[in-house]
Amino acid sequence: MSKKVVTDLDVKGKKVLMRVDFNVPMKNGVITDDNRIREALPTIKYVIDNGGKAIVFSHLGRIKTAEDKLTNTLAPVAKRFEELVGKTVKFIPETRGKALEDAINQMQNGDILMFENTRFEDLEGKKESGNDPELGKYWASLGDVFVNDAFGTAHRAHASNVGIASNIAETAAGFLLEKEIKFIGGAVDNPVRPFVAILGGSKVSDKIGVIESLIEKADKILVGGGMMFTFLAALGKNVGASKCEADKLDLAKDLLTKASGKIVLPVDTVVTTEFSNDTPFQTVSVNDIKEGQMGLDIGPETLKEFTNIISTAKTVVWNGPMGVFEMSNYAKGTVGICEALANLNNATTIIGGGDSAAAAIQFGYASKVSHISTGGGASLEYLEGKTLPGVACVDDK
Ligand code: ADP
Ligand code: MG
Repeated sequence: MSKKVVTDLDVKGKKVLMRVDFNVPMKNGVITDDNRIREALPTIKYVIDNGGKAIVFSHLGRIKTAEDKLTNTLAPVAKRFEELVGKTVKFIPETRGKALEDAINQMQNGDILMFENTRFEDLEGKKESGNDPELGKYWASLGDVFVNDAFGTAHRAHASNVGIASNIAETAAGFLLEKEIKFIGGAVDNPVRPFVAILGGSKVSDKIGVIESLIEKADKILVGGGMMFTFLAALGKNVGASKCEADKLDLAKDLLTKASGKIVLPVDTVVTTEFSNDTPFQTVSVNDIKEGQMGLDIGPETLKEFTNIISTAKTVVWNGPMGVFEMSNYAKGTVGICEALANLNNATTIIGGGDSAAAAIQFGYASKVSHISTGGGASLEYLEGKTLPGVACVDDK
């Protein structure tokens, strides 16, 4: 079902509540990466350019103690936001009350106001994260319409997404959320085939839901990363000192049976003796891993086979790096998969997962795939086929 987007709203003269994801990484009060602010700008600009009053809010980190409030204020974020948007941003260091209400009532069309970290409301009884009904209703009362553009928290029902949406006349998706719905939602609900999934990363146990869901939906599932060794061990192979979840061997066997041939496992791996970029490394067959050797990447034969399969795909979803890409000796598999995706024509290529997205960006492939998802946990749950409350709360068209 298609969801209402900000462009479907008449925002002129309206107080537009905008839930964005300004949960940027900070160190000692300084923003170390402002990408999330930059990415939110098109939706915010659309609203102010069309005469709306943009009331912008976000969470930042977690608030458990009064001290967390000092380190997690959105004040520096509001400042950076103001520089990037090139317009005055009136920052109200409150999450409710007269100062906030007065400031909203004084807004002119095209103005931007931002209020304090929504999770400041978690200090006395998890009001934001617990979707306290009074809070959602209160925030909804501050605006006329609601735009949700925070995908990173879409897998949670909080007062600042679901709470507001349930108490306001209209809720639409911002452009970022729209893109996530289009790509991840599209791949999961209605993929153009062949649909190839690539799964890697650290552990099988983190990804059970995704594997189960993709067994149903994908035509092939290519498995690399640390999780490959649990599957290889389940087939009775010696995996040496590689990452292997001994308590997940039965599960891995079950998944292989259920997948009836859809799961493709590596044939070779790059091994070393310590989790380090400084120890000698070599490529070995997965049938030939010795005691004390740990596999930290897929090997070149595997990459060739994976690349061949990928070259036939019309939809590709990738979650989890193929190896320890943070170390240059073990980055080739991950870079190779980036390359395979970049070389596809007429296919939809989607990367979801915090580390795989970071790898693709770091290796310069951000513009060469159709979509890099911005939500870690949210993309995983979306790929699992779950209904995300932050998506479900957006009105249907
Ligand atoms: P994502 O965030 O993309 O979902 P994960 O968090 O599941 O991915 O896993 C990412 C981590 O997996 C990376 O830090 C990477 O170093 C690690 N990893 C990949 N392959 C291996 C391996 N063979 N052995 C140990 N760790 C691995
Ligand atoms: Mg991760």
